[in-house]
Amino acid sequence: MKIAIAGFGALGARVGVMLQQAGHEVTGIDGWAAHIAAISTDGLTVHQDDGVTKKYYIPVMTAKEIDGKFDLIILLTKTPQLDTMLTDIKHIITKNTKLLVLSNGLGNIEVMEKHVNRDQILAGVTLWTSELINPGEIRVTGTGSIKLQAIGEANAKPIVSALNKASLNVTLSQNVIEAIWHKAGINSVLNPLTVLLDANIAEFGMAGNGMDLSLNILDEIKQIGELEGINVDVNAIMKDLALLIRPEHAGNHYPSMYQDIKAGKHTEIDFLNGYFAKLGSEHGVPMPFNALITRLIHAKEDIERTK
Ligand code: NAD
Repeated sequence: MKIAIAGFGALGARVGVMLQQAGHEVTGIDGWAAHIAAISTDGLTVHQDDGVTKKYYIPVMTAKEIDGKFDLIILLTKTPQLDTMLTDIKHIITKNTKLLVLSNGLGNIEVMEKHVNRDQILAGVTLWTSELINPGEIRVTGTGSIKLQAIGEANAKPIVSALNKASLNVTLSQNVIEAIWHKAGINSVLNPLTVLLDANIAEFGMAGNGMDLSLNILDEIKQIGELEGINVDVNAIMKDLALLIRPEHAGNHYPSMYQDIKAGKHTEIDFLNGYFAKLGSEHGVPMPFNALITRLIHAKEDIERTK
């Protein structure tokens, strides 16, 4: 299958390598000049968790440079960047192109619907992870999985088969929106609270009222889910959080929002707690925890950007 990865950053590069190794024709699209230069000159350097480092040669170019027709475009920008990316790659989207968004957070499907027909859209959630440590260099740990679903009438099965040829552990979901909300619930706890408490996931897990705070955030999300017709299983999210804080899972990991803040970048907060708080005000339901957390993260973004 001819596949473009739009947003060839930490996760896009990992997924791109796996797809290329499985025999797919993969092209990366990215706007970061130093990253493109490093990959084009020396290949993509991948540090595996078994201590082995490998090089992969995958064509990566800017949206302006890319040309041709693709069966599948996997969108892996940060959520606030999705709209611009879709505008920039408009010329390579044909009516037969399927677009799969795997970025975290809420609102991605609405953004995609502004650009393409609903029957071209697939949405998913992924538990694969990756860290971009330098231009052209990523570190990957563990394995992952993907749950996806066609949003309109698209046949998702050929996409699932193509991705599973690359051992991406993909399953077809019957309710991907619920899965997206579930993951957004996890991220709305771990991402902002590790930033605000300056802690990794395990340290957050040991914090005296960390779990109470998690429940405050999640109870608000559940309330707004009920109004939107989406079931948010707070107990299931708390169970996942209890697993993630263990060092053998993600305990020693700093979530991406923590890394974005340290790098002076914009975070995905408006598509996590901020999105829930916005839905709350639309429904006239107060969401004090999610609203305050959103404002605190924006303040932190401002502080870190001036350093
Ligand atoms: P990243 O910032 O490393 O990668 C995004 C890439 O997109 C960057 O290289 C950036 O240059 C590029 N980009 C953005 N807008 C562009 C544009 N208009 N034109 C060209 N290039 C553009 O982010 P990431 O960590 O790979 O995460 C991507 C998404 O996946 C996020 O939503 C994140 O929350 C989610 N996610 C990440 C992980 C992880 O472990 N990294 C795990 C699960 C989900």
